[in-house]
Amino acid sequence: MNVFQCPNCSNTVYFENTSCENCDSTLGYSIDDDDFRVPEDNDLKFCKNYIYNNCNWLIDINDENDFCTACQLNRVIPNKRDFDDFNKCEQLEFAKHRLIYQLYKLKLPLVAKNLNNKGIAFDFLSENNKENKLTGHANGVVTIILSEADAVHRAQLKKEMNEPYRTLLGHFRHEIGHYYWMLFFEKEHLQSFRKLFGDERKDYGKSLEAHYKNGPQKDWNLNFISNYASSHPWEDWAETWAHYLHIIDTLETASSLGISFANSKTILSKDCVSNFDDPYKIKDFRKIFNASITLTSAANSLNRAMGLPDIYPFVIPEPVYYKLEFIHNLLFNNSWNLK
Ligand SMILES: [Zn+2]
Ligand SMILES: [Zn+2]
Ligand SMILES: [Zn+2]
Repeated sequence: MNVFQCPNCSNTVYFENTSCENCDSTLGYSIDDDDFRVPEDNDLKFCKNYIYNNCNWLIDINDENDFCTACQLNRVIPNKRDFDDFNKCEQLEFAKHRLIYQLYKLKLPLVAKNLNNKGIAFDFLSENNKENKLTGHANGVVTIILSEADAVHRAQLKKEMNEPYRTLLGHFRHEIGHYYWMLFFEKEHLQSFRKLFGDERKDYGKSLEAHYKNGPQKDWNLNFISNYASSHPWEDWAETWAHYLHIIDTLETASSLGISFANSKTILSKDCVSNFDDPYKIKDFRKIFNASITLTSAANSLNRAMGLPDIYPFVIPEPVYYKLEFIHNLLFNNSWNLK
């Protein structure tokens, strides 16, 4: 994502900030400008969720809707009196806003389900009223169980499920991937999808059951981005989709920081994105991919220098490269009409 600056003093501002740590100006994020603004200087007001510390996005002062593009999509949120649950919402919202920022940049449809039945709704459910619901997606409704916001719980699952990488933002990216699958493949492209990801008509419930019972497909790492991706073509899509979003976001961040790989020691850097341009505007996926490999090996080296595990614990086999490229080309060439 972009790295932002205070419009008043140019100090670095993080995406979640509501004020500048240097000059104390009250600030919010305007998605239309893709930048931070001082609300009263620009005829803007904060989204209604600002008062609950759950949103720092700005909307037009005359906007009749009290919620921003990201918060309009919420359907169920925990009761504000349930303090513990409500606090977890803050972390969910941080991740969700980062997700929406990126979907907006990718020009994907972001319509609330209460306005269009084919739109999106987020349900944040606490453990006790979940009615056997799990984190997942169904027909545009993304359900997140609040315990996912609990870092200890997440680390435990990460170990149990043998996942090297499990984050809230990763969950959001994965689940919304199921939604866009529906939109992409409703009418066309299904044949090309099946060639790369397999036939999604095979029994979903039974496939997942088999995955949890017998473990992932043998040699899954030769064909899939994660072991879970080998459970069913839909999960393969969602996992690969989430990974694509990780790649583009980290590259945009690096680009925004002015990181260049011209002098990098990897051979790939020769065919990287030149001068590290905005990855959202690059058509050739090979260049994006090479830049990402260069960037992530640099990031892993930094982590190792601090004695930490690799920040990017993935190796991309060729079949996964082609799946990522397929997603890139779909996004690059698609136009939308939500009817
Ligand atoms: Zn400032
Ligand atoms: Zn908001
Ligand atoms: Zn899934």
